[in-house]
Amino acid sequence: MNTFTSEKLAEVKAKNPNEPEFHQAVEEVLESLELVLEKHPEYRTAKIVERMVEPERVIMFRVPWTDDKGQIHVNRGFRIEMSSAIGPYKGGLRFHPSVNLGILKFLAFEQVYKNSLTTLPMGGGKGGSDFDPKGKSDAEVMRFCQSFMSELFRHIGPDTDVPAGDIGVGGREIGYLFGQYKRLRNEFTGVLTGKGLHWGGSLIRPEATGYGAVYFAAEMLTTRKEELKGKTCLVSGSGNVAQYTIEKILQLGGKAVTVSDSSGYVYDEEGIDAKKLQFVMDLKNVRRGRVSEYAEKFKGAKFTPVDHKLGYNPLWNHKAHCAFPSATQNEINGTDADNLLKNGVYVVSEGANMPTTIDGIRKFLDNKILYAPGKAANAGGVATSGLEMAQNSQRLSWPREKVDQHLHGIMKSIHRACVETSERFGTPGNYVNGANIAGFLKVADAMMDQGVV
Ligand code: NDP
Repeated sequence: MNTFTSEKLAEVKAKNPNEPEFHQAVEEVLESLELVLEKHPEYRTAKIVERMVEPERVIMFRVPWTDDKGQIHVNRGFRIEMSSAIGPYKGGLRFHPSVNLGILKFLAFEQVYKNSLTTLPMGGGKGGSDFDPKGKSDAEVMRFCQSFMSELFRHIGPDTDVPAGDIGVGGREIGYLFGQYKRLRNEFTGVLTGKGLHWGGSLIRPEATGYGAVYFAAEMLTTRKEELKGKTCLVSGSGNVAQYTIEKILQLGGKAVTVSDSSGYVYDEEGIDAKKLQFVMDLKNVRRGRVSEYAEKFKGAKFTPVDHKLGYNPLWNHKAHCAFPSATQNEINGTDADNLLKNGVYVVSEGANMPTTIDGIRKFLDNKILYAPGKAANAGGVATSGLEMAQNSQRLSWPREKVDQHLHGIMKSIHRACVETSERFGTPGNYVNGANIAGFLKVADAMMDQGVV
């Protein structure tokens, strides 16, 4: 780390105390940017880095709601509007008890570079609440969403800020949020993405993040003249991203052998076939149950509960070729990275945001495996949100094949941008540098053009 980077990082830490995830995301990007800032001192003069680590706007608000027994609860709502240099703020909403300002700032910061990589005109934002939808009735979730939107609606709009889903925010929540926005504004517009198919949603949006992460892995494999067919894959999570990652792995002839949730993971050596995947989808999207039920239903599958004392996640300690972390941040630490490498994994494509710690990333890079950071590998979700915005503006719905073709094309172009940029800056094969620098350049140049704002 050079002097400029360490000074900037120290400033970020001093100004944003108790936000370790935000510090981590900034550190990873700043390290890559050393290569650019040496060649382009004009970015330093214009204080581009200092501006990029400061959100354009942070909105924090009270969300009171009443449960089915008439008890009143108060949660905290947030929206981080990080950068609008290349388009309206765009990024998901997360409802999870762990949500706080630092987590959402890391996600919004990552989103800026990711959205830039998609080739579409989208700025970066993120939001959410510490509300836990788990165990709540549909009516409780609806009342919470309506209260949340009763404040958020005044800050967003189809040309200002367009939220989407993330952890804990799926089709059900987007429906309730959209309904309340429409009622308050008396307007039917594309203010949210991930909408239902009959009211402005896009085909392939639910599938896009998972499909995109697998397309990206397949692209990385082609650089070694290999394909996904016949590869054994470890997948974490069992939500939106994990489900469609497994579906695409199956379609491309690979074998997924794990799924997980916050209670533990299942290892199924035979592989998760289409029937078993359907069971997972029903379990998680309809019955909202726990992943251990998979092992009760299918013989040969083994459930292992989470053991925080271990210091590593045994899910990452099985023989495999590829890993698709698709649950949450920092789910692969240094020990997990060692275990993956030891077990023969040489492709890691991140469906989740920042699932690997800095220590883990260093191990992947030192071992020169095919490692794709989330901001490149999972950009298919927001890219398809961008396609949903385009369809809403046109008042049209594109067919499934057209959206999927666009998605595939975008993932290929992100891959190409990462490969070419990492070569141009002297670190061939380093997708972290490729993604960070390619994402940065477009936003930085837009900021230079637009003056000091
Ligand atoms: P879902 O809520 O659909 O699923 C999340 C999954 O991860 C669940 O299986 C959940 O388990 C598990 N999980 C969540 N938090 C934790 C935790 N703290 N510890 C262990 N397991 C956890 O979310 P998504 O699939 O949409 O999101 C997964 C990841 O992908 C996130 O990092 C998200 O930011 C990222 N992402 C999502 C995009 C999208 O389009 N949805 C786009 C780009 C990135 P449980 O059921 O027990 O909570």
